Amino acid sequence: MASTKKADVDAVVIGAGFAGLGMLYRLREQLGLSVQVFETGDDVGGTWYWNRYPGARCDSESYIYCFSFSDELLQDWNWSGKYPEQPEILSYLQHVADRFDLRRNIQFETRVTAAHYLEDDNLWRVETNLGEVVHARFLISGIGCISTGNVPDIPGRDSFKGDSFHTGAWPHDGVDFAGKRVAVIGTGSSGVQSIPVIAEQAGHLTVFQRTAQYTIPARHGTVDRRFLDEEVKPNYTELLEKARRSAGGIPVDFSERLALEVSDEERNAIYEAGWREGGHRFIFGSFRDIMANLDANHTASEFIRNKIRETVKDPNLVAKLVPTDHPLGSKRALIDTNYFETYNRDNVALVDLKTDPIECITETGIRTASGEFDVDIIVFATGFDAMTGSFFKMDIQGRDGARLKDDWSEGPKSYLGLQVHKYPNLFMITGPGSPSVLSNMPVSIEQHIEWIGDLIAHMRDEELDVVEAQAGAQAEWVTHVNDVASQTLYMHANSWYLGANIPGKPRVFMPYAGGVGAYRAHCEAIVDDGYRGFTLGRPAAQVASEHAAGG
Ligand code: NAP
Repeated sequence: MASTKKADVDAVVIGAGFAGLGMLYRLREQLGLSVQVFETGDDVGGTWYWNRYPGARCDSESYIYCFSFSDELLQDWNWSGKYPEQPEILSYLQHVADRFDLRRNIQFETRVTAAHYLEDDNLWRVETNLGEVVHARFLISGIGCISTGNVPDIPGRDSFKGDSFHTGAWPHDGVDFAGKRVAVIGTGSSGVQSIPVIAEQAGHLTVFQRTAQYTIPARHGTVDRRFLDEEVKPNYTELLEKARRSAGGIPVDFSERLALEVSDEERNAIYEAGWREGGHRFIFGSFRDIMANLDANHTASEFIRNKIRETVKDPNLVAKLVPTDHPLGSKRALIDTNYFETYNRDNVALVDLKTDPIECITETGIRTASGEFDVDIIVFATGFDAMTGSFFKMDIQGRDGARLKDDWSEGPKSYLGLQVHKYPNLFMITGPGSPSVLSNMPVSIEQHIEWIGDLIAHMRDEELDVVEAQAGAQAEWVTHVNDVASQTLYMHANSWYLGANIPGKPRVFMPYAGGVGAYRAHCEAIVDDGYRGFTLGRPAAQVASEHAAGG
């Protein structure tokens, strides 16, 4: 039978964060396509809509945490924080939505529940929680990498009679901690940012730590206006191009020095200078082998351990807070404001779950092996089912009855983190297998938006209807992603990059660790080779039915 269904829109985009907004702009304004965006929240913002916990801010400096598609936008917007804080990033994204009139194609408070590829029609049938059905030629996921919260299934969790919150689903009107006894479980990025702020507000705070962390002072403050006006704005084109070709999506130069080729004295002086300057410069500005060589890394790890020993007054706390089981940077590198200093406060206590594990949550608090901690509020800073969790919340089915949940049961498999074999015309923005979470996200997001937009434009020009990653190309890419990861220090820690934070999740390194610039070059070479590894054409089912009908 010939195809009967017509597309309601050219593309459905899922999510209205950085990825969804940028994709909508590209498809609608630059390609003239019709687009329907579905967004679960009641406004734009994605990550920055949901993560409103105290102290939430980005670790990338504000001047490079932005869209680059509009020069006017780059020149007009003035960040106030050196590191952008959650309310400011949210108002930036709201401004982008208003300025480019993006909201008219976004349906808020709507969750995509299922997406099935209809092979005979070469359409994606997209269904929402409201029971609506939309058919689209292309389906593009902008669902984010870190958007499905992980609230651990601790026995008795639901019996707690106080209030509990996950950092990634924070109440919009805030939480009043004044005079309250608070527990924070988790010391990742969200915990390290929120703990000092909650400690200042709460009556008493108990931190439940499973893994001690390295963290570097951010030296956060207001943005340096001279830097912004004189060094950034007149040079945005060059800075952005440098970011696109860099390792991590930021326009900085890595030091050429090697940590083991200088004297102990010189090395310490360099680390001291990096510590004073703060932020990730401590790593990239000091030695280029810190993240590549375990012995070099040991010198930086030990420097930070000594800083913890100097900062925290109570030796019992020092023993718990000094990380010893993984090298610096093998888990997400953290930057902080007053994190270790917070443990000198009288109203802050620390429970080391390695020696004193949680047994259960009770009606009144948390019980560990050593005793009971009564609290009024529990904050779960326990992270996310990253990179795959949000895909698995939807019933995604490709051709021949393929289900994404089954195809990824041993870990995500993709070609370039952009497409999955058996799922034609489905694209992922910063999907697993791309640099994504190992980079300054807007740079990686925009690269995918441009690449997908260019491919769709190419298909239109060449009158091609369908694109699908080939099985062989995908298998080769998955092997390459694993090979690159196996040579890095990331394999020396239990991290969410490896799925290690979710019980039962396959232990597979999910992002691409080869760097933003190298990845971009791969993607460009594939285009230059006529989209090597992708099959582009007309849908087989349509061609067959036309033949059968003598067409
Ligand atoms: P996370 O890095 O996964 O940290 C979760 C914390 O909870 C870890 O300390 C973890 O311990 C602990 N935990 C998890 N399950 C537990 C359990 N069952 N019992 C006790 N402790 C448990 O999550 P996150 O802090 O929300 O950060 C996630 C990612 O979001 C970051 O890595 C970053 O990419 C992004 N993020 C960025 C920023 C920023 O730019 N500043 C801010 C927030 C988040 P283990 O370490 O032992 O697993």
